[in-house]
Amino acid sequence: MRFLDDVTVELVKHSASDRDVLWAARVSTAGEQSLAELDKDPERSKGLINFLMRDRHGSPFEHNSMTFFVSAPIFVFREFQRHRVGWSYNEESGRYRELQSAFYVPGPERKLVQQGKPGHYVFTEGTPEQHKLVTEAMEGAYRQSYAAYQEMLEAGVAREVARAVLPVGVFSTMYATCNARSLMHFLSLRTQHEQARVPSFPQREIEMVAERMEEVWAGLMPLTHAAFIANGRVAP
Ligand SMILES: Cc1cc2nc3c(=O)[nH]c(=O)nc-3n(C[C@H](O)[C@H](O)[C@H](O)COP(=O)(O)OP(=O)(O)OC[C@H]3O[C@@H](n4cnc5c(N)ncnc54)[C@H](O)[C@@H]3O)c2cc1C
Repeated sequence: MRFLDDVTVELVKHSASDRDVLWAARVSTAGEQSLAELDKDPERSKGLINFLMRDRHGSPFEHNSMTFFVSAPIFVFREFQRHRVGWSYNEESGRYRELQSAFYVPGPERKLVQQGKPGHYVFTEGTPEQHKLVTEAMEGAYRQSYAAYQEMLEAGVAREVARAVLPVGVFSTMYATCNARSLMHFLSLRTQHEQARVPSFPQREIEMVAERMEEVWAGLMPLTHAAFIANGRVAP
């Protein structure tokens, strides 16, 4: 049994740079010359990206692509796959594959206590006793359910039936492909940030995935990322 307190996010494939925003936007005014204008004036390029972000001219941010490998608990995937627009997903199958015995147990830094009302929860530190309880309760439940899963498989029960006994803390894997515009929309909802003009209150575990994606994306498209921050983390 593996008990994990973290998620995995890896960029496996990409075609994404600030230049992709520029040529797409400049076709408006330069037509077939838009590619030739790319290297003309870096300050103008920065200004153009900022203008597009500020005025929410979103489509130039779609001409790029990033594919991430994600390994995270199924409850994170439930939330993730609600993002329908500009995202493509392929996930491992519990019908065709025996699910691995990897389960989520919150680490010591995960805030455990929820206060406030729905939509405005504040999370505070758990006590050592609460952390101990969470760890023991989760590990015990995971061991029991995975043993029942194995028992059914060994008795010849189909994977698609036996998997019903596994909890949402079991890890799954997927490839998720997006573009900068759909990623920004995802980040605006799945990260909590002081600079956000519209605050969001995401679950910490999907925020961990979102933070890793944002870090990778910021490296690929630094001007676009800076404009996203400067304009209150609102997707164009
Ligand atoms: C903090 C938080 C709490 C949440 N709590 C719940 C919950 O309790 N229950 C629950 O069911 N979900 C919940 N969600 C999920 C939420 O309702 C959205 O499904 C999810 O955030 C995806 O957002 P989206 O629809 O904007 O994204 P996408 O599906 O990627 O859509 C992007 C945009 O395209 C447009 N669009 C897409 N589809 C349509 C459509 N059919 N009609 C019109 N416009 C469309 C909209 O402008 C939308 O913003 C929660 C999300 C967050 C961030």
